[in-house]
Amino acid sequence: MTATYFDTHCHLNFKRFNKTLSDVVSKASTLGVSLLVVPGTDVISSKKAVALTQEYNNLYAAVGIHPHHVYEVKSEEETVSQLSEIETLLSNSKVVAIGEVGLDRHDYENTKYTDYTISNEFIRRQMELLQKQITLAIRYKKSLILHNRETKQELLTLLKKVWDTRLEKRTVFHCCESDLELLSFAKDHKMYIGVDGDVTFDLTKQSFISQVPLEMLVLETDSPFLLPEPLKSQKLYPNTPHTIPLIAECVAKIKGITLQEVASRTTENARGLFNV
Ligand SMILES: [Zn+2]
Ligand SMILES: [Zn+2]
Repeated sequence: MTATYFDTHCHLNFKRFNKTLSDVVSKASTLGVSLLVVPGTDVISSKKAVALTQEYNNLYAAVGIHPHHVYEVKSEEETVSQLSEIETLLSNSKVVAIGEVGLDRHDYENTKYTDYTISNEFIRRQMELLQKQITLAIRYKKSLILHNRETKQELLTLLKKVWDTRLEKRTVFHCCESDLELLSFAKDHKMYIGVDGDVTFDLTKQSFISQVPLEMLVLETDSPFLLPEPLKSQKLYPNTPHTIPLIAECVAKIKGITLQEVASRTTENARGLFNV
């Protein structure tokens, strides 16, 4: 019997998959990767994620405004109007989560925003949108996909402030940084940790994942990003959900358990996380 895998984070709503999507979904399915969550990063990609769930039965959507894209939300009016568009999407039953949302201090080289700078005001707006989107997740009983890049302290402070027990077992640190303080926060708040293709080549990540209990782990590709080895060396971009078994194999090796066990435990975890 082939294992069933759950890719908890793949951006199949991005333009680069427009022409290949049905092949990408069926190739993943052949390898057992038959459950997928597609997160939005702004209003347009969130709407697209929802539209895709109508085409593919095994696909679920998350909707939200990613901290990088908070850059284009300049005024109070825009904040209100974009959040109300996100809120409207939450009534769809295939929308399982708010995401991806969070905080990000990374200075991106490849960004469509020509004057991109990480100012205090920008971080303040990221925090405001994050807090409002977490409130939506709580109010609509949706799960929560958290993005964090170089913003641990701000994120943990904010989470402590707004935390609601309804978020327990329903929240994930997606592509979690190798950080024991994040892990201990996740343990205390009954959260999940997302592991990606970088675990196949990043030794720090491997040692971090060795310390994450199996009952907290979920698999994700973050397609089209984070291509795992050996495909990375072969430059076989873009990453797609069919690489989930490579991540699972690496986790199996790190934990000294079978591939089948990684598949069944992480899929069960992901089903719990998204309540599907
Ligand atoms: Zn992310
Ligand atoms: Zn992502």
